[in-house]
Amino acid sequence: MEFKEGLTYNDVLLMPQYSDIRRRAEVSIGSALDGPYAYVPLNLPIIASPMDTISEEEMGVAMWQEGGLAIIHRYNTIDRQLEIMDHVTVMSQCNAGAAIGTSGDYLERATALYGVGVKILCIDVAHGHHILVKEALHELRGHFGDSVHIMAGNVATLEGYNDLVDWGADSVRCNIGGGSICSTRIQTGHGVPGLQTIFDCAQAGRQVPIIADGGIRTSGDIVKALAAGADFVMLGSLLAGTDETPGDIINSHQGKFKSYRGMASKDAQIEWRGKTASLEGVATTVPCKGPVADILDDLERGIRSGFSYSGARSLKELQKKAVFLRQTSSGQVESSTHILKS
Ligand code: IMP
Repeated sequence: MEFKEGLTYNDVLLMPQYSDIRRRAEVSIGSALDGPYAYVPLNLPIIASPMDTISEEEMGVAMWQEGGLAIIHRYNTIDRQLEIMDHVTVMSQCNAGAAIGTSGDYLERATALYGVGVKILCIDVAHGHHILVKEALHELRGHFGDSVHIMAGNVATLEGYNDLVDWGADSVRCNIGGGSICSTRIQTGHGVPGLQTIFDCAQAGRQVPIIADGGIRTSGDIVKALAAGADFVMLGSLLAGTDETPGDIINSHQGKFKSYRGMASKDAQIEWRGKTASLEGVATTVPCKGPVADILDDLERGIRSGFSYSGARSLKELQKKAVFLRQTSSGQVESSTHILKS
């Protein structure tokens, strides 16, 4: 039996470094999803999660226009997903990725998406270090060669990351059980604290982008994830409730809300599969937040400022210069805006 320790976002801080950055505009926070025929540079290292309360037409368009990317979810018919992709690509030439699974109609779905020009496919399963992902990657590479970028996940370990890369993934979603709506760790006892997964996967030192997915609550968490070795972050809850998310506004005496739910929640499973398997997510509502552009602007300002505190003009520099320290529980209290605590 092995026993390891794991750190997450709240456990650490980045130590401020000497900086000669005079203006935040000197900082480039961009990153790229690579691949021989699918080079996608992004000015903003933020990807919207393939969830049915996050990424459809409007999120696809807005994320691209703001310099990021959305992965359109797969909890729909193939025709509906194609309709969403068509809308995104027609609106002023936007680009988005599309999620697929590893069973059922996944190959038919992937082929249809490929047929309409989708260049980023995302194998979207909860436990990505799995034979079904290995087989799907093999099958997809057989069909499409290197002409698509294949994102895959999720994994929680260095071994998982390395295997997915060896099996043909072009980028890997890292973190299991850390999402705000996730109950995987409670239900199954499995997972690794989110930032530890990034530290571990970054040990591989390979060129294949690491996507820190789930559990990110602030721009500070984004800076920590990038400094620890991630190339991108994937967001759900930070984008939930914005104007561009699917779903109706729920009016109540407490204000306006929108639904946000885990794809393994009871609600989502009943709606998309008509039955439930292991329940590893929850459904909730979140306050309406207005345009996603405002949220992204705020995050971008925080990320640029974070790079500047580390004296870093680029992601590479940030990862080279970053010095993490572990903080105590008193440090965690001091790090929060404690005047607001009673
Ligand atoms: P958040 O940004 O903390 O809200 O986390 C979003 C991430 O949670 C997604 O990108 C998925 O990786 C993950 N996720 C989505 N639905 C579920 C679920 O039902 N159970 C566990 N994880 C989920």
